Amino acid sequence: MSIALRSEIEAISVEIINNRRHLHQHPELGFQEYATSKFITENLNQLDLEVSTGIGQTGVVALLKGGNGPCIGLRADMDALPLQETSDVEYKSMNDGVMHACGHDGHVAMLLGAAKVLSEKRDQLKGTVKFVFQPAEEGLGGARYMIDDGVLENPKVDEFYGIHLWNYQPFGTVGVQPGPVLAAADEFIISVKGKGGHGAVPQGSVDAVVISSQLVLALQTIVSRNTNPLESTVLTIGMIGGGYNFNIISDEVVLKGTARAYTEENRKMIHNRLHEICDGIGNAYGARIEVDYSDGYPPTVNSKSESEKVLLAAEKIVGGSVQPPYLTMGGEDMSYYLQKVPGCFLFVGSAPDGLRVPHHSSHFDINEEALLVGSSVWVQLVEDVLT
Ligand SMILES: [Zn+2]
Ligand SMILES: [Zn+2]
Repeated sequence: MSIALRSEIEAISVEIINNRRHLHQHPELGFQEYATSKFITENLNQLDLEVSTGIGQTGVVALLKGGNGPCIGLRADMDALPLQETSDVEYKSMNDGVMHACGHDGHVAMLLGAAKVLSEKRDQLKGTVKFVFQPAEEGLGGARYMIDDGVLENPKVDEFYGIHLWNYQPFGTVGVQPGPVLAAADEFIISVKGKGGHGAVPQGSVDAVVISSQLVLALQTIVSRNTNPLESTVLTIGMIGGGYNFNIISDEVVLKGTARAYTEENRKMIHNRLHEICDGIGNAYGARIEVDYSDGYPPTVNSKSESEKVLLAAEKIVGGSVQPPYLTMGGEDMSYYLQKVPGCFLFVGSAPDGLRVPHHSSHFDINEEALLVGSSVWVQLVEDVLT
């Protein structure tokens, strides 16, 4: 493995890693990133950039204006998760029950490092860089709030990029691919309304538990029978609840689940089939079944030419270790930007040696050298696009 870090990034590697550790020790949940936001702002204010705060509630945006040319947006999300850190690293979270378990601390540190290096190259840049520090990626859709507050306008962003540190890939690799790289992540609540009765006198009742059991299995056929087997969908019932006691037929059961798809077509298909199956089973058994389906993040879809730019930039840093990303059916609100502006969401391999530390686990950690890879890719990409 040969990694050619940018020398300007190597020169500030201690600062980048220390910034990540500081943020790791002081994690904050979505839309509560006040200290994080302040830390970012203080750092950016040293760089002679136009800094705006309070964008999308707690977000921060900084503009680096070079000469005439396109405007490219670079995004780091900055929120943590409601999780108690269980490992005993020296930079362990100091906020009880809150932890940077997805790597967003690293995303901020990488982008701050890149901003520092790029701000000294202003004269060479033909165009504008917009550094976007976004709150509340983990489920609350902070990206939408940033967009509503005009982050893609004034100046209008022509290309938009984001990096995720990725423990599913070994350190030293960068995952890049055009097309969908993360799934749509929708949620639904199903209420099965039957008619209660005595557990020994089922006739005349409408047993919501029996009907729900049918439903759980029938819904899996959306994945196994309605989805093109060469494409991917997931449907998970993650919660089921109802009933009173061993001898009472339940009048109501509530199921909660999530549906994942890489395309809008499959997403709509799942939504429609969910209604059809619920209606059909409800009719068959004489129950009323209500479906409350809410759209979550759309699929994250990379554009072709921007993915190509990332690929070329990443190759200059990690050589032949640019590869298709390790894909999951997770969702990301990066998708909202990419619905409006062409761009690319890329994955920087950050798996620590010999450890299995999945994202969102209480012992999550990264190989911090990956921060330098990510920062180097940022600098390289901006130079490639704007010079
Ligand atoms: Zn996450
Ligand atoms: Zn994340």
